[in-house]
Amino acid sequence: MRFTEFDFHPNLLEGIEASNYETATPVQEQVIPPILAGRDVIASAQTGTGKTAAFLLPVMNRLLQNHVDGQVGALIIVPTRELAIQISQHVEGLSYFTHLSSIAIYGGNDAQNFVAEKKALQMGADIIVCTPGRMIAHLNMGYVNMKGLQFLVLDEADRMLDMGFQDDINKIIKSLPQKRQNLLFSATMPEKIRQLAKRILHQPAEINIAISKPPEKIIQRAFVVYEPQKLPLIKKILKETVYKNALVFCSRKQTVKQLTRELKQGGFNIEEIHSDLEQSKRESVLGAFASGRIPLLVATDILSRGIDIDTIDLVINYDVPGDGEDYVHRIGRTARAEADGVAYTLVGEKEQNKFAAIEKLLEKEVEKAPVPVELGESPSYHPRVYSGNSRPKRKFYKSGPKRR
Ligand code: AMP
Repeated sequence: MRFTEFDFHPNLLEGIEASNYETATPVQEQVIPPILAGRDVIASAQTGTGKTAAFLLPVMNRLLQNHVDGQVGALIIVPTRELAIQISQHVEGLSYFTHLSSIAIYGGNDAQNFVAEKKALQMGADIIVCTPGRMIAHLNMGYVNMKGLQFLVLDEADRMLDMGFQDDINKIIKSLPQKRQNLLFSATMPEKIRQLAKRILHQPAEINIAISKPPEKIIQRAFVVYEPQKLPLIKKILKETVYKNALVFCSRKQTVKQLTRELKQGGFNIEEIHSDLEQSKRESVLGAFASGRIPLLVATDILSRGIDIDTIDLVINYDVPGDGEDYVHRIGRTARAEADGVAYTLVGEKEQNKFAAIEKLLEKEVEKAPVPVELGESPSYHPRVYSGNSRPKRKFYKSGPKRR
């Protein structure tokens, strides 16, 4: 379906064209019409599916028709600063030929930004993209004016709940007018998201884009190792692989810091990103990585979603991510656009069951690469595979067979 078929405002169509979007992605095809028709929507869709434009375009189109001076038109709540910045860049690109105003409101930036944010919240802006914590900081000061709000969007709602933002979200929603259109996007649909949806959505259109599988063109390999073999192995991989940009994921920031230190000492030109870093530092590191000045980056899952850098051709999971979605998100950082990519996962002895559960979810056995002989003997792959057809829940690990 081409965007011209949606009957969008001509200035918005210009922005779409300038962004080089020609045809709508599946989630856009399904989500845009009910939003344009004024319905609430709940959609399970992940990063990489085009979900951002799926909600931005109809919201922007409506705001172009119903712009009210001095009011906030749409409030988009997201879990992380990175996502807030990314969405507001999308807004800027798509709204370039319109008069729509927007601002991103997130923590960790300077006092000057706080003043600009305050002004937008008092005097109005068509679109505000915010993280919950920062929004609460403004709400607590008592000047936030949401009287004219037309749209509430919760993006990556599952992640927000996982990060403990439930109370903040409830508090923000209390400050909004009752009559508004609500859109909820979530990569997964656990019960707690359904509960949240029940509370805030009114007879929503439900759109279910099946869990995305990683693109076939990503070459996936796993190395089954003992934990102490991981460091020498990653050094060897990084020395012997030709890449433009390599992104290494660790689940914990402690591991990110430790691994970065070790690799720096090993002579690698490398930086790290995790939630302990100041926002300005994160941005400068990402900029250096995107420009190729720093080819190698170690990060927590903070970067596993939404970071779109075409030159990432190698992703290494230094540990096995928490679940299948995280895995898909992590390895989906490579092979963006037309490029190819390779994703290696180092599977420690105690991570075999977790990795097997991911393979089951993906309905794909990831090829096990031989561990270089100089690293000594490595374990065989013998997970106690979950038997059952549904996706294993984390709970399974507690009540199911003991992990080794
Ligand atoms: P998202 O899932 O929203 O993070 O989008 C993933 C990437 O797809 C972003 O780089 C978007 O700019 C791009 N994108 C979104 N919609 C389209 C489209 N219809 N055609 C081409 N690219 C798109």
